[in-house]
Amino acid sequence: MAKKQFDVAVVGAGIGGYIAAIRCAQLGLKTACIEKSKPLGGTCLIVGCIPSKALLQSTEYYDWLMKESQQHGIAAKEVSVDFAKMMQRKTQIVDGLTNGVASLFKKHSIVRYEGTARLTSAHMLELSDKQVIEAENIIIASGSEPIPLPFLPFDEKVVLSSTGALALPTIPKKMIVVGAGIIGVELASVYNRLGTQVVLVEMLDRITPMMDTAVSKSLQSILQKQGLEFHLSAKVTKAKVNANSVSLSVQEGANETEMTADVVLVAIGRRPYTKGLGLTEQGITLDSKGYIEVDGNFRTKQSHIYAIGDVIEGPMLAHKASEEGVAVAEIIAGQQPHLNYMAIPNVIYTHPEVASVGLTEAEAREAGMELAIGTCFMRAIGRARCLGYVEGFVKVIGEKNSGRLLGLHILSPHASEMIGEGVIAIEKKATLQDLAAASHAHPTLSEAIHEASLAALGHPLAF
Ligand SMILES: Cc1cc2nc3c(=O)[nH]c(=O)nc-3n(C[C@H](O)[C@H](O)[C@H](O)COP(=O)(O)OP(=O)(O)OC[C@H]3O[C@@H](n4cnc5c(N)ncnc54)[C@H](O)[C@@H]3O)c2cc1C
Repeated sequence: MAKKQFDVAVVGAGIGGYIAAIRCAQLGLKTACIEKSKPLGGTCLIVGCIPSKALLQSTEYYDWLMKESQQHGIAAKEVSVDFAKMMQRKTQIVDGLTNGVASLFKKHSIVRYEGTARLTSAHMLELSDKQVIEAENIIIASGSEPIPLPFLPFDEKVVLSSTGALALPTIPKKMIVVGAGIIGVELASVYNRLGTQVVLVEMLDRITPMMDTAVSKSLQSILQKQGLEFHLSAKVTKAKVNANSVSLSVQEGANETEMTADVVLVAIGRRPYTKGLGLTEQGITLDSKGYIEVDGNFRTKQSHIYAIGDVIEGPMLAHKASEEGVAVAEIIAGQQPHLNYMAIPNVIYTHPEVASVGLTEAEAREAGMELAIGTCFMRAIGRARCLGYVEGFVKVIGEKNSGRLLGLHILSPHASEMIGEGVIAIEKKATLQDLAAASHAHPTLSEAIHEASLAALGHPLAF
């Protein structure tokens, strides 16, 4: 490569950017990474996947002790929550992981710059402290930010984004969550388990709309039994924010109701973050939603400037960002990596969890395919009974003629771990027959995948 200061400069050390930087360095490219926050790790490690899962885990233990332990003959007395300690544990986990990224940067001799980067010419980035970096290739991995309601800006005290909801000083008595997507239902679960009265307001007619309809409907009824209150096809039209409370006007059909709570969490989605990067000045185009436009090799309109992760179109998922990080590094190094978007799983870490990969039934039907569908309810599975949790199901969707697996949808404890089988099956173009023929350890929850595949083939064994 021609001699610039760096072969590659990566803007953003979120999971897309730091993985891209590590892979570039592994491939022998002299790599710099610029991150405006002090800790490395971006949304996922600092204000996303990791802190939310830490709180979901802590509150799941608490909820189990309070509500389910007695079934097992365990009497839990004087169980209480030390919220400050729960939050401290979450912070320690985050710190451990962000420090881990810093160590990996050292290990791979990645030069880390702290500051905000802006493109000033085709190969040049200027940092907030006026340092200039020159690189042969540039990867933009600047991520995304939460979208506020236009009339309700975040103050992170009463009007919360997910970031504020992950750092509350005390447990609120009442919380309204606007948006019943993945982030909304996960954080609603956290606070519901801690005793907060949680009301969710969703504009669409079902929760978690990216999931298979049967799964979202069942998840909703399970979460309702856990105490969450849902208002679907409902729209927040006005808001009044006070010092310690918020009142929302909610339009539901012809009715307009007033809802009041200590806090409102606005979880209506995230948008790509490109502020101050100077992209358009360098001829890099954004689409109508603000995503950086790239080709199939992550190249922007400037072929040596690439973009990956949440800042480009596609599911806003950590593993999608990191896989694109690996792929873009390999493309820059002259390799031809493989990335199959059909085989990217999606998980909701409620209890039970939801996990899916491939097509939903509606998507497969829309594509005009003839389908073989099999469902196994968790109550038919011995391990689910031992766990004390029999709600939920596994649904497999195959193409009728070829038997090829098109989609796997799981509503079960540990669905996030079970979905790996479906990812590999879709990646390797496996069939329902392949899943039915594979031995599944007994007793395990994954036997439900085996049984659902048998059901799709017309001969279930366990029900
Ligand atoms: C509450 C929550 C829970 C989530 N849970 C999950 C989950 O369980 N599983 C999952 O797969 N995904 C989850 N996500 C989504 C996941 O966090 C994102 O998809 C992922 O972090 C995207 O990675 P990224 O590298 O593209 O961007 P980010 O992680 O957003 O990183 C971008 C980085 O770029 C930096 N930056 C931006 N502009 C500049 C600039 N000009 N100069 C220097 N630095 C800059 C930012 O400071 C940031 O650190 C969750 C998100 C949230 C909010």
